[in-house]
Amino acid sequence: MIFQIGQQIYWDDPDDGAASGIYTIQSINEDDILISNKYSEAEVPTHELIHLDDLYMCHECGSLDIEEKMWCSINRKTNVITDAVDDDCYFCNTCNEIYHKYPLNVGANINKLKDYEQYND
Ligand SMILES: [Zn+2]
Repeated sequence: MIFQIGQQIYWDDPDDGAASGIYTIQSINEDDILISNKYSEAEVPTHELIHLDDLYMCHECGSLDIEEKMWCSINRKTNVITDAVDDDCYFCNTCNEIYHKYPLNVGANINKLKDYEQYND
């Protein structure tokens, strides 16, 4: 994954998503990346960062709290996910609704996500 100073990026905060959101890359160090938004800044490892083009949101409300169906083995004791179910539908935990279409790509619809985050501050 390539990172650049000034790039907008999504931080998936491992602390139960407490500070997850869109940040701007301030500096790139050997082991971590300094990111900031209008609320805070943090030094985070690269595996916690997601490019906006790899992120999806609900087309109705703009929430990132969406889920897709997965296949897992019937016979294994642990539910190891083997593949996504490719049926173009998702569940939004914010709307509490199943939508029968593919969710919106955040990179192509960044303003809708910013509206959602501003409204839900
Ligand atoms: Zn929704």
